[in-house]
Amino acid sequence: MNTYFIFIILLYSISYFFYIKFSHGLGHKAQYLQLRRFLPCAVLAVLPMYVINASLTSSFYLVDVFIGLMWIITYPLFYYLTYHKSSSDFGFHLDTVFGLYFMGWALSFKALLTYFNIFPTITLTLVSSAEFIILLIPVCQWIYYQLYHTCINDEGLTLILETDHNETIEFFKSLPFFLQIFTPILIIVSFGVILYCNLTFTTVTLTYNWQLPVLAAVFIFLTVYLWNLKKGVFIRTGIIELYLDVKSYIKETATYKTKLRERLQSLRVTLNNTVKAPSTIILVIGESASRDYMSAFTDYPKNTTPWLKEMSNHPNFLLFPNTYACKDQTVPVLEHALTEANQYNDKKFYESCSIIDIAKKAGYKTYWFSNQGHIGSAETAITLVANTADKAEWTKQNLNQYQYDGTLLENLKQVNPNENNFIILHLMGSHFNFINRYPQNFAKFSTSGKYDLIPNYLDSLAYTDFVLKQVLEYGKNNLNLDALVYFSDHATIPDKRRSPNFSGFANVRIPFFTYLSDEYIKNNPDIYNNLKNNQNKYFTNDLMYDFMCGIFNIISNHYDEKNSLSSQNYKFTKESLKTNLGNMKLSDEYEKSKAI
Ligand SMILES: [Zn+2]
Repeated sequence: MNTYFIFIILLYSISYFFYIKFSHGLGHKAQYLQLRRFLPCAVLAVLPMYVINASLTSSFYLVDVFIGLMWIITYPLFYYLTYHKSSSDFGFHLDTVFGLYFMGWALSFKALLTYFNIFPTITLTLVSSAEFIILLIPVCQWIYYQLYHTCINDEGLTLILETDHNETIEFFKSLPFFLQIFTPILIIVSFGVILYCNLTFTTVTLTYNWQLPVLAAVFIFLTVYLWNLKKGVFIRTGIIELYLDVKSYIKETATYKTKLRERLQSLRVTLNNTVKAPSTIILVIGESASRDYMSAFTDYPKNTTPWLKEMSNHPNFLLFPNTYACKDQTVPVLEHALTEANQYNDKKFYESCSIIDIAKKAGYKTYWFSNQGHIGSAETAITLVANTADKAEWTKQNLNQYQYDGTLLENLKQVNPNENNFIILHLMGSHFNFINRYPQNFAKFSTSGKYDLIPNYLDSLAYTDFVLKQVLEYGKNNLNLDALVYFSDHATIPDKRRSPNFSGFANVRIPFFTYLSDEYIKNNPDIYNNLKNNQNKYFTNDLMYDFMCGIFNIISNHYDEKNSLSSQNYKFTKESLKTNLGNMKLSDEYEKSKAI
């Protein structure tokens, strides 16, 4: 009796102490409330052990205590470590409640199964699997924290949920070697340990009449209280609540497709100039290219972009050296770059017109050719927009054979040169792992086949430069190319592991240029002159939608020319522009980048 009582007090004080220590800005009322609330939790965590009269050091119980403590500690601890300086009040009492009740629930469940002797080996194996999955949730958070030194947040989780199968494998391969070896071993060993501990649970003897009803009551009460799908404690713990939020965001995004008809009905587009037919406009979206490493944009000591550097002196080419990404991740950037939604309006992606909608209304046949993965089940904002094109194709991706961006030239062959075309090419660019982005016989800055972060990265940039040259030449020779626009979704710091949190301006300094044909310049002299005058102005790529509207030279109820570099009324300056989805000013660049 005494030991059970002492253990209750022990669990109770640990939980309460931990909760108070790793919360922030709690009022006295909340403190007092949890002081009371945790007491019955601690009692129920131990009660089943008292009922079946088993030793508190039994391994089948210690498993549950360990899993429970992991829940009590993990999310509140990492949240605290990440946000205690920036956030004024938070507390995760339900993680504590879940952890304590889980001990009582799992134990009473196992005790009942053992008592009634219901295929104990099979059922205990099943319960062990469930316990293992429950344990895996905090364990993954520990691994995540070790990798990124930050608590998992909505951005990180969205990224994980939207990552496709191949990317997951590539990511795994990029992990430090000991993690690659250690993770599978950890998984197998922890499942083995849980199973082994549970299988020692062989007999439950109940001597008194009251024991069975109490045990059953605890089990039923906790099952409902913990696992109720509408308001159970499990779905209200910090990490699960976050997961459900992200899930519902992804679902909301999917309504983009269903709202398409409504959007198109309200969209009006008229051309300022009749397009001389046939004409083709190509938009190339790069991946993880940083202008800091591109010789066309900076005085980088190696000539990583020889073609563009040479072209930059040519009047048909306009480079925009002060361009920034609106975020350092692909999906949120393109969600904004391709649609009306930007950092400066409060439009939602799923109700915004896209550049493909505009091109269609303006009379172009639209194509989307992508060399980025389209294998995962999660539809991202990008695939949603892509699928509204008249034709959308993804190159085949598999892990044993890398598809280089050059293969997109094959896709261009199906474009009819006698029509007006708008083509989006989505490159794999300089996506991690850099060495996989260019044919090894192309290596100039690295040794062919040798993994070496910065030289591999430079070669991937050089290869993109080479692909852009070929796309431009193919367009000029075969498709009546009038304009080609290239920008990167975001940049990267090649020798630094990417983090889901904004980690400095080096991740958003992107390349951006446009080519305009002589014919185009002759027909749209104002656009050309305005672009030239605005060439050195600051720009963020969430305004790319407006930029493209300018290139199409349209008037529309869904286009504000003040957002476009092609207008003399372009309104943005370094002071008014932002990044990190509106949370950071470009004018903070110097200060912040110095700090990082
Ligand atoms: Zn990206």
